[in-house]
Amino acid sequence: MKILEIALATPLRRSFDYLPPADTDPDNLKPGMRLRVPFGHQQLCGLLLEVKNHSSLPVKKLKPALALIDDAPLIPLEHLKLLRWAANYYQAPVGDALFTTLPTLLRQGAAAVLSGETHWRLSTDGKGLPVGALKRAKKQAELIKTLQSGHINRTELCRLNISRATVKALLDKNLIEEFDLLPSYTIDSIPHHPLLSETPLLLNIEQKNALQHIDLKNYTAYLLEGTTGSGKTEVYLQAIERVLNDGKQALVLIPEIGLTPQTIGRFARRFNTPIATLHSGLSDKERLQGWLRAREGIARIIIGTRSAVFTPLKELGIIIIDEEHDPSFKQQDGFRYSARDFAAVRAQRENIPLVLGTATPALETLHNALEGRYKHLHLMQRAGNAKPPVLSAIDIRQQTLQNGFASETLDAINDTLDRGNQALVFINRRGYAPTLLCHDCGWQALCRNCDARMTVHQRPFHLHCHHCDHQGPIPQRCPDCQSPHIQAMGQGTERSEDDLQQIFPNTRVLRIDRDTTRKKNAMADMLDIIHSGDPCILVGTQMLAKGHHFPDVTLVAIIDADGGLFSADFRGPERMGQLITQVAGRAGRAEKPGRVVIQSHCIDHPLMETLLNYNYHHFAQMLLKERYIGNLPPYRYLAIIKAESKFANSANNFLQQARNLAEQLHPSSVQLNYLGPLPAIMERRNDRYRFQLQINAAKRGPLQQLLKLLAQHMENHKDARKIRWAIDVDPQDMS
Ligand code: ADP
Ligand code: ZN
Ligand code: ZN
Repeated sequence: MKILEIALATPLRRSFDYLPPADTDPDNLKPGMRLRVPFGHQQLCGLLLEVKNHSSLPVKKLKPALALIDDAPLIPLEHLKLLRWAANYYQAPVGDALFTTLPTLLRQGAAAVLSGETHWRLSTDGKGLPVGALKRAKKQAELIKTLQSGHINRTELCRLNISRATVKALLDKNLIEEFDLLPSYTIDSIPHHPLLSETPLLLNIEQKNALQHIDLKNYTAYLLEGTTGSGKTEVYLQAIERVLNDGKQALVLIPEIGLTPQTIGRFARRFNTPIATLHSGLSDKERLQGWLRAREGIARIIIGTRSAVFTPLKELGIIIIDEEHDPSFKQQDGFRYSARDFAAVRAQRENIPLVLGTATPALETLHNALEGRYKHLHLMQRAGNAKPPVLSAIDIRQQTLQNGFASETLDAINDTLDRGNQALVFINRRGYAPTLLCHDCGWQALCRNCDARMTVHQRPFHLHCHHCDHQGPIPQRCPDCQSPHIQAMGQGTERSEDDLQQIFPNTRVLRIDRDTTRKKNAMADMLDIIHSGDPCILVGTQMLAKGHHFPDVTLVAIIDADGGLFSADFRGPERMGQLITQVAGRAGRAEKPGRVVIQSHCIDHPLMETLLNYNYHHFAQMLLKERYIGNLPPYRYLAIIKAESKFANSANNFLQQARNLAEQLHPSSVQLNYLGPLPAIMERRNDRYRFQLQINAAKRGPLQQLLKLLAQHMENHKDARKIRWAIDVDPQDMS
């Protein structure tokens, strides 16, 4: 008798036993195949975990599966084991976790068949387009011209720096059409001769040294700590070149930011080899096809965001994580995994190198490097002729500010524009103002769903909660005292844009934040303007901090540096240091030297002083000491159990019971102790009360065991359905 142990995408922490489908030879069933199974009144797509000889249930109670979907395992056995390890480590329901790792179409039961890659070509209308048409749409004309000699895929679009929006515009005009093209080669005849389609840069000594240290034959994790602009990408590219020459594949993970096409473009320009991209900007079909090309070994370089780390790969030879400190590598809901940490386990199992690159390492990573578990590689100098920017702090205590700007800051902007350069103004707060206040009675506009203030927006004119998305009109009079003296307090990007435009009426001011880049082509259009090199002022949020290369920006002004110092989240200062360093790194990245001015009320705070007068590395070591004294990660292991409900009591009681049970199982000690249940930093959000129970342990093992038992208990709790609860192992976001 063969019993099938199957994982289903349900929130239950268990697998399900079925009998083989009637018309299938049980000997053909292998772990990693999908089957369609009956589940209550539904049919679900399940993943076969194991073929067993017995079940804990009586056999006559088991139902047969309905049909086999795959005729070969979707996921190789070793890889399946690794994914199951992750589900277990992150305390996630196994089915939920496994299905999260798959492209949407595979989750739904679609066939895992290579049907080809999406390409674009001229339509009949496009072929008949008169010469000189589309004059006013340069990029569209460029694409039409390119297509005159054939068709193009997504990677080539990135190579040519042509955006999705351009493609969409031409599709809408019926000038081009989409079609699928099967690779015209097999695995054995992948076209990569010659492998390079551009000449690599000549490495400087530091880069050469770093590259030479990367052992491609064995597992080692490397922290490539390189100042912004030090040429980390060139090191990745040359390491990948060697991996490809060995006949292996490279997996590159990048943060979830608008820069994906630019990054892909850089890889595509270098290598004449198939690249698969896996990120949220793709259609479900494209994602599935990319995943299959990666799995089959047809794609040799795989570039993607967080979940790409789970892609099964035929001949993986290296994993590279760019900007490894970026919070987007941790999933914050559902299957709460860390792509970076999973990558480390994967690299170890597959015995390949892992390269973690950043200018601002996460404290966990830095700790691993300092302890010798990761090999520490340094790039201290900027590559090429670029010089490091000169930092100066502006003490704004007791200064009269003009719209939030110190006169020194405005002088610096003025001076920059006079020299024909560009200035970047960083304000990490979108909207017009963070607070709407009654001058007469002190009333503030609060969100009705959250413990938060509504943000004032001017365009369009409304109040907006950035936590739950609740929106409302801006009142003419105070709802409490009817006074008309209602004021917007504080500076957001929208207001600073207006103010700067008034102060510098003859200069173009570009605002870059989530609101101005929502439209498809908006970011690409703004980048075009910036890269044209004309003097301008960029005002923006952390969207400006990451990865961008702005050759004409010679001044970066950070308007309020202090926020993170007093954050309720213990990671606040770390994030602040990373953000300031990354934004500062946008200055002077090319031939022109750069300068950074930082407005602060706390320039003599020891952390701020270290960051400003030394560098992120010293700052991070100081934070590590604080973490050590505070018994916090990376010196301790943390897990939090989060619960939220309509009524504060239910969530609180639920966690209190979890704590009581935990104390019975594992009395609080130095080795493992509890904090809470306590209200979350924002207790009420989206009309729910939120509580947390923190567990802090010296070792992973006992923490894992305890969490497993607690999870079982909570799942069976009578209130479990009324309460949203989750376990977050190695949490990154304490809010
Ligand atoms: P990072 O990722 O470390 O911030 P990049 O890899 O983007 O830095 O490199 C910054 C700039 O320096 C890029 O314009 C790149 O082309 C250039 N660069 C990198 N390495 C070299 C080199 N060895 N010689 C000259 N220029 C280089
Ligand atoms: Zn009032
Ligand atoms: Zn809200």
